[in-house]
Amino acid sequence: MRALIKTRAEPGIWMEDIEKPQVGPNDVLVQVVKSAICGTDLHIVNWDEWAQQTIPISMAIGHEFVGRVVEVGSEVERIEIGQRVAGEGHVTCGVCRNCRAGRRHFCRNTVGIGIDRAGAFAEFVAIPAFNAYPIPDDIDDSVATLMDPLGNACHAALEYDLVGEDVLVTGAGPIGMMTVAIARHVGARFIVVTDINPFRLGIVSKMGADRAVDANDVDLAQEMAGLGMQEGFDVGLEMSGAGPALQQMLDAMNNGGNVALLGIPSKERNPIDWHEIIFKGLTLKGIYGRKLFETWYKMTAMLETGLDVSPVITHEFPAEHFEEAFATTQSGEVGKVLLDWS
Ligand code: NAD
Ligand code: ZN
Repeated sequence: MRALIKTRAEPGIWMEDIEKPQVGPNDVLVQVVKSAICGTDLHIVNWDEWAQQTIPISMAIGHEFVGRVVEVGSEVERIEIGQRVAGEGHVTCGVCRNCRAGRRHFCRNTVGIGIDRAGAFAEFVAIPAFNAYPIPDDIDDSVATLMDPLGNACHAALEYDLVGEDVLVTGAGPIGMMTVAIARHVGARFIVVTDINPFRLGIVSKMGADRAVDANDVDLAQEMAGLGMQEGFDVGLEMSGAGPALQQMLDAMNNGGNVALLGIPSKERNPIDWHEIIFKGLTLKGIYGRKLFETWYKMTAMLETGLDVSPVITHEFPAEHFEEAFATTQSGEVGKVLLDWS
């Protein structure tokens, strides 16, 4: 089968013919229809320090996908051949304390599809049947390809009650954009978004944001006043991983506010002023992955009741044009970039 792999330990990614994955007794084999490029894949292509320490050579990468089940292992009961599924990319152990308590998103032994085991930038990917999530017919392939990052957005956005609340989203990458659509869908009052990328601010302003503003050139107090806000944001969704963004958020939160941290900071330390956290009595919570599978139920239900994340998808390429797809993604003038394997 065709797959995108690292053939050499250097920057780049290559399409090669490799063996189709083996299907274990509890696995399903999925014929990939579409996959999507994630920031993690750029780290792998760019071969940064993390990727060098993590990614096996000659393994298919990629973890955001939708496809059809073409083979099921001997022990699989719940999933059938022909079913359309997306895949939860975190394979959890099932036996650690958190897994046994039903908190699989805290599993200490998580293995990542397309990171630690063969991924979905390929014609076929084998995943545990447990990780295969059937997609209802009314959700199209392109949107279904986004279930993994939409799940990140959903997990972060639904961490706190948003009904009637004023929400600040820092970072209008694909995940930040989708948190805006979710916040609007579930009944937030005002939603203000910051980024430093005008292209992305343009998209997010069409996804339900009341204000989409340049982080480097904004006075949030003024934006709040313009909306008639008196006290500060009730909920902050940090979706950039940028230290200055977090500080800007802490400064703009109301006393007693809640902050969900999803953006992953780079290695260099980002000093923040703790005073805001203490004197405002803020709650900050780290958000990792998706809740298995509570997040999946929630996002499916929202997609079926009017949540529209399609503006996030800005580009789609046939899989053979992967080089152009990655170059386009690197440019930053994108939302989500899809690869078509059909
Ligand atoms: P992305 O890198 O495409 O988006 C980040 C955005 O932040 C960019 O648009 C960038 O321009 C913007 N930004 C940079 N500096 C800023 C500033 N000072 N103020 C406001 N915005 C600023 O990433 P994404 O795919 O949308 O993911 C969002 C973040 O979440 C990334 O940091 C990613 O690594 C992280 N992530 C976390 C998890 C998790 O499980 N916690 C999962 C996936 C992604
Ligand atoms: Zn576990």
